[in-house]
Amino acid sequence: MSKKFHFKCKTCGNEIEGFKQWFANNQKCTQCGDNKIDTIYSTPKEKIKELISKDAKPESLWHYFDFLPLENKENIITEGEGVAPIERWSFFEDYAKRKYNLNLEVFINRNDKSFATGTFKDKGGAVAASVLKEQGIKEYVVVSTGNTASAFAHYLAKAGVSCSVFVPEDSLPDSEAHIGTYGQKLFRVKGDYAYAKKVAAEYAKKYGLLITGGNLDPLRLEAKKTQVFEMMRVMGKTPDVYIQALSGGTGPFAVEKAYDDFAELNLFGKLPRFLLSQGDRCAPMAAAWKKAKENNFSEGWEKDYPIYENPKTLIPTIATGNPGMYPLMGPLVKKSGGEIFPVKEELAVPLARLIGFERVIKIGPASAAGVLGFFEALKRGLIKDGESVFINMGESANRALGFLQEVAYTTENIKTAEDAKRFNREDYKKFVWEPFEKY
Ligand SMILES: [Zn+2]
Repeated sequence: MSKKFHFKCKTCGNEIEGFKQWFANNQKCTQCGDNKIDTIYSTPKEKIKELISKDAKPESLWHYFDFLPLENKENIITEGEGVAPIERWSFFEDYAKRKYNLNLEVFINRNDKSFATGTFKDKGGAVAASVLKEQGIKEYVVVSTGNTASAFAHYLAKAGVSCSVFVPEDSLPDSEAHIGTYGQKLFRVKGDYAYAKKVAAEYAKKYGLLITGGNLDPLRLEAKKTQVFEMMRVMGKTPDVYIQALSGGTGPFAVEKAYDDFAELNLFGKLPRFLLSQGDRCAPMAAAWKKAKENNFSEGWEKDYPIYENPKTLIPTIATGNPGMYPLMGPLVKKSGGEIFPVKEELAVPLARLIGFERVIKIGPASAAGVLGFFEALKRGLIKDGESVFINMGESANRALGFLQEVAYTTENIKTAEDAKRFNREDYKKFVWEPFEKY
């Protein structure tokens, strides 16, 4: 057994020593062949109290090294990820008060400020690169709609690991530019995300390469669970409500993992209600959820979900047409008392304008889909008076320049100085708020 941590198969209870054995068996249980494993640490759990104290000054998510699946600190690859600021946005609180008479605390996790690629995925990239380095892995395969690809390409390049990235046909060209810049291999597959996954899996199998293990991959899950530690450290509590755009669902699974790991200490309180949004042009989990609710979650509801082939969407970054994780995600959302619902993709640009105006930041389209979840949740009456809300905002706009060009407002047909004089900031403020005042 590895001293620091080991894995335990969630299906048959078999114990797996560590990554050496896990990778050698192609990321499957050596006994039953399933791929769902729990990472169990031998670090005394009490240690977390010191790490999440307000006085702690973390430089990256490696502050939580004792609860991350890496043996030696010398293998750490980092760019200061995982400590993106968590801010309170009073203009959202004012909106909830003004329109719905709700007194809320609204916290935003600014993953757009993550140092490496400006996404929530930097956490997973850093842990994956460090573990691969520790295990002496030289080549790795990633399949992604964009953000994971960018983060993994970046961090693996830092670790000297060659990364073959498979992206679907409609992935954003700006994402691809980020991947290609580091000399990593980029393959644009003629088909949707599900098809890209298939081709990547065949490639990995044929050439005996390791491939990302999906939404329950311990490399990503363990990295992302640290966001709960950061909530405790920065906010001094966990929120009542957790909002995020939902693609596969690693974020919510990771939150649950942190709660499960430290359940015996009862530090974090109740699991937040997961209010998860999907872009309305590719929202299979939201559709499945609606149907399940209408049928009072009748027997087998979690296995009943639609599959959309080649979804045509404005936000390809989060478009998972085949929601293979729904049988696990649905029950998790239900357990939390949460909901899955669609948001209008057409509102991504207006929302990015609103946030650009109010906060002077540039957010990407997947972030917009997540934050739109706040407006939709309010409209549906899913947030109660006095609650605290945490919005996990996924990414900056730096890999979606086309999106940013749509967001940028230009006054056209200016022929004279008098024409230009007509534009003023108060009018613009009304303009950016209008879609949300009437939401
Ligand atoms: Zn097993």
